[in-house]
Amino acid sequence: MTDLVPPHGGTLKDLVVDETRAQKLKSEATQMPDWDLTERQLWDVELLLNGAFSPLEGFLGKEGYNKVVKDARLADGTVWPMPITLDVTDEFVSNNLLEEASRVALRSPEGLVIAILTITDIWRPDIEWEAKNVLGTTSTDHPTVHKLLHETNPVYVGGTLEGLEHPTHHTFQEHRYRPQETRRLFTKRGWDRVVGFQTRNPMHRVHCALASRAARETEANLLIHPVVGETKPGDVDHFTRTRCYKAVLDRFNPQTTELALLPLAMRMAGPREALWHAIIRQNYGCSHFPIGRDHAGCSDDDGKDFYGPYEAQEYVGRFEDELDIEIVRFEEHVYSEKKQGYVPKSEAEEGATFKYISGTQLREMLKSGEKIPGWFSYPEVLEQLRERYPSRQEQGFTVFFTGLPSSGKSTIANIVNAKLLEHGSRPVTLLDGDIVRKNLSSELGFSKHDRDLNIRRIGFVASEITKNRGIALCANIAPYQETRRQVRDLIEEVGGFILVHVDTPVEVCKKRDRKGLYEKAEEGIIDNFTGVNDPFEAPENPEVRLDTTETTPEQAANRVLLHLQSEGFIEEFQNA
Ligand code: ADP
Ligand code: ADP
Repeated sequence: MTDLVPPHGGTLKDLVVDETRAQKLKSEATQMPDWDLTERQLWDVELLLNGAFSPLEGFLGKEGYNKVVKDARLADGTVWPMPITLDVTDEFVSNNLLEEASRVALRSPEGLVIAILTITDIWRPDIEWEAKNVLGTTSTDHPTVHKLLHETNPVYVGGTLEGLEHPTHHTFQEHRYRPQETRRLFTKRGWDRVVGFQTRNPMHRVHCALASRAARETEANLLIHPVVGETKPGDVDHFTRTRCYKAVLDRFNPQTTELALLPLAMRMAGPREALWHAIIRQNYGCSHFPIGRDHAGCSDDDGKDFYGPYEAQEYVGRFEDELDIEIVRFEEHVYSEKKQGYVPKSEAEEGATFKYISGTQLREMLKSGEKIPGWFSYPEVLEQLRERYPSRQEQGFTVFFTGLPSSGKSTIANIVNAKLLEHGSRPVTLLDGDIVRKNLSSELGFSKHDRDLNIRRIGFVASEITKNRGIALCANIAPYQETRRQVRDLIEEVGGFILVHVDTPVEVCKKRDRKGLYEKAEEGIIDNFTGVNDPFEAPENPEVRLDTTETTPEQAANRVLLHLQSEGFIEEFQNA
């Protein structure tokens, strides 16, 4: 069988060893130091092992790394734009006395040995230099710069890999192909020209238009090849996206189109990334690679793009002669009202205003239940997205009551609980401070450490309830701003978070205190009592602030319910 498109660097490197060697390595691995691969490293190892990163045979050594960062070339001069490196801690190197020729067992999060690394180099990289050269910026607004500067270990270890087995995936197995498998498929079907279409978005109309245009103009078959590893933070998760791809596949001719999922960890590196993507698709056996507007780009916190719209196309052009995959360049496409479809901007009617919906806008529109216009996407895609981003009335949410002891948190939360149960739209769980301390945190006291741990546990439980579209009501003192923020971040990922500050003045709380705890604290009988001898950091921007001095518990609860109603979390409420 001859390869129709030669793999980058000449041969496709499948780094998984044969069964006998694998058995031998497996038993030797018990004597080797273990490195637990981070998520990013695991994605990289998978593509190193299966040949998608050919001609790489492992993690870059120092010389290769320097040359890749500086010139986008490997030590032997072959084009390769992305530093593929293994970052480890100082302790790992020193505790295991690592040096050249040491071997390390690389493990998956489940503890499986995936590959053995034989070390060639150990060095401390200049991360800022790497960021500047590869990403063109050192701004931590760039997700990969942020990762490099804040989440990357200080030591790089280079070396060759011997894979014990290819990592497996348990989802969408019918669309998982390694480079050897797509190549085999293309040969079997007689596909000698294949466009490999990159995307990290659900395929909306513009993506489908571009993919089919690329195939049509080059008279090639189409491999829809979306990234399902790491993409830009905030992107639609790949489970949902793959359901969208499967749904939209019906619009393509099954005789000429295939869907394959690419487990790549993107770097959002614009120009360098585009070149890398082209090389990877060449390894999968594609003959053509489309690059459109701002390929694999991202923007800073003010919305300013890090890369020019056509910078990726220009950059790849400099290396094109050395690739065996042809670049298909696309101008920015816009929706033309007149032509009722997507067209290159320069061909669109003059004076037309272009409509555009960003990923963030789309998610907001879905959550608020707003109608998404037909020019933007297809009903079958939107149906999948609606499932994932339900309107507020279908989302789960957490109401988090915070405040001094005896401020009224439990009393109000209990009434809200009763009203929501009466309403019956979703299951409700009340995580009251005392109940939680009894069931989840019985060993904890009231030091800052213990209080934070307690709140984080509650936050975790509430986030699970919220994720599964229930309602969690938490009533805890939760005195620390930072911990409340962490809980908010966790929960807002999966649903709504409503912080209610029960802001009853301490004098009133003291008067209401049935257990006489304030008195005991003032007499020094109890330590760490919030409001007396322990701090309470008042929230700056709670969604609801209640001073219960002059109100009844029912009125306070009603305020919370009205807020939930006005924000769309519950429908028109029968007032008490
Ligand atoms: P990424 O480039 O990060 O993968 P997308 O999934 O949005 O992001 O894009 C997939 C491909 O489609 C890229 O080559 C991109 O340049 C191209 N593309 C997306 N939208 C447009 C558009 N409106 N005009 C031209 N090209 C586009
Ligand atoms: P926490 O949970 O904040 O420690 P509790 O709800 O256990 O506070 O206690 C608050 C006490 O104050 C209860 O005895 C409650 O009946 C009384 N109370 C009086 N007015 C109100 C009000 N408007 N809101 C809440 N509680 C009130």
